[in-house]
Amino acid sequence: MTDDPIPGADGPELTAANVLEVDDDRYAAESVALVTGAASGIGRAVAVALAANGCTVAATDVDADGLDDTVDRGADLDAAGEIHTIKGDLTEDDDIERIVDTAAEYGDLRFLANVAGLQHVAPIEEFPAEQYDLMQRVMLRAPTLLSKHAFPHMREAGGGAVGNMASVHGHYTTSDKVAYNVCKFGLRGLTQSLAAEGDGEVRAFSVSTGYVSTPLVTGQIPDTADQRGLTEQEVVEDVMLGQSRTKRMMSPVEVANLFVFGFSRHAKHLNGGDLLFDGGMTNTYE
Ligand code: NAD
Repeated sequence: MTDDPIPGADGPELTAANVLEVDDDRYAAESVALVTGAASGIGRAVAVALAANGCTVAATDVDADGLDDTVDRGADLDAAGEIHTIKGDLTEDDDIERIVDTAAEYGDLRFLANVAGLQHVAPIEEFPAEQYDLMQRVMLRAPTLLSKHAFPHMREAGGGAVGNMASVHGHYTTSDKVAYNVCKFGLRGLTQSLAAEGDGEVRAFSVSTGYVSTPLVTGQIPDTADQRGLTEQEVVEDVMLGQSRTKRMMSPVEVANLFVFGFSRHAKHLNGGDLLFDGGMTNTYE
């Protein structure tokens, strides 16, 4: 047992020194990267990291204040690329179309990072159907429709890529998270479908991490403790990190760097595949 409430919460911060920088002709102001969930956690880090690499970023979220903070974080890093904000709700089809249209006005829409998501912890017998539907809309339907609308722009730009934020829960499941598990497995199916239709020009990949120190994770600790009759400390150490060989959560910038790599020229053979960075969680046991 450690006294650290969230091991890894003190991990690498979102600073210029911790962002992976890739020398890539397409990492330039004319390339637009559309990032969802960009007001918080992983999405914010992805937006800032891509801007730091020189892309023009279209950062979207329902949370307008959080988006403003993301712009400030980009400025703190002296990011070469501009970050534009587009407030929108991914449960609304009209918003989804408007978000893509607006992003495409900033330049050549080449990259789409589907990061927005939410969690709900409840046993299947009690899982609220409305919550299941909401999670499907935000985490699976929206990435599909965003890709649908972005694909023509990416083809027109001569190529691009969609990066989908999956999870270890897209590889194996844990109890009381049925909607999340189903969405993340589905997102890997979407990734492979996009790869199948991208003709090698528009690529797709997913990113599957274990736990990352963000509000989404800290928010689910009390519910999981309740469901399992554990202390919050036990939830972190036994449930979240118990099967991981690396006993620390990732930090958002470490995940953002996987998107920087995945969208880059160095990843041209990554198409339909998954970047599994889970500290050994799914492929090993003690
Ligand atoms: P977060 O809660 O910090 O950020 C999620 C963002 O999604 C928020 O800014 C929220 O406003 C936005 N969002 C939610 N509903 C929306 C809607 N209807 N329209 C537009 N935006 C909406 O969470 P995070 O931890 O950064 O998670 C981001 C993604 O990473 C999620 O898909 C999550 O499943 C995935 N993920 C997280 C972890 C982790 O441990 N944190 C691990 C693996 C995968």
